[in-house]
Amino acid sequence: MSELVYLGLGSNLGDRAANLAAARKQIAELGAVCRESSIYESPPWGIELPQNDYLNQVIELRTELDATQLLLTLQEIERELGRGPHGRGEPRTIDIDILLYGDAEIATTAPDYTLFVPHQAMNERAFVLVPLLEISPKLVHPVIGVSFRELVDSVDVSMVKPWYG
Ligand code: AMP
Repeated sequence: MSELVYLGLGSNLGDRAANLAAARKQIAELGAVCRESSIYESPPWGIELPQNDYLNQVIELRTELDATQLLLTLQEIERELGRGPHGRGEPRTIDIDILLYGDAEIATTAPDYTLFVPHQAMNERAFVLVPLLEISPKLVHPVIGVSFRELVDSVDVSMVKPWYG
């Protein structure tokens, strides 16, 4: 059985657009990419240390992978694209988050990974909500039942700018 999933991509190190493109290429191997948002640029969120602005994008993918297989495969892609170990809030070549996995609510804590879906911080992150709404304007948060349109209205979107390269 396949699921419709939303992935959040981010990069603020090296050739950011090329990093997103390389990630999209690999993600396309994991199923059928239905929609891709535009690319947006925004300053690092909730981070004190000076570092580059991020490019972010959201991808809608239909995949047969289960949520854990998907997470582990995405982590493999992150490693392949040159993302080394990093501390919380440090710059990254590529970050790929599972935002939504169908309507599933998942909370898994394994020895070598955790998986929380819907992504725990997405509701407050304008750089996730803006591209998500661009490709799926009627989407409703599957757990709290609130539309993402309402959620985006509750955050400051002023720093999230379309990026044209
Ligand atoms: P980050 O450094 O922001 O990429 O966070 C990676 C960590 O978050 C890994 O340990 C993942 O197992 C964990 N994680 C928990 N939930 C998710 C999710 N929905 N998508 C991606 N990573 C997740």
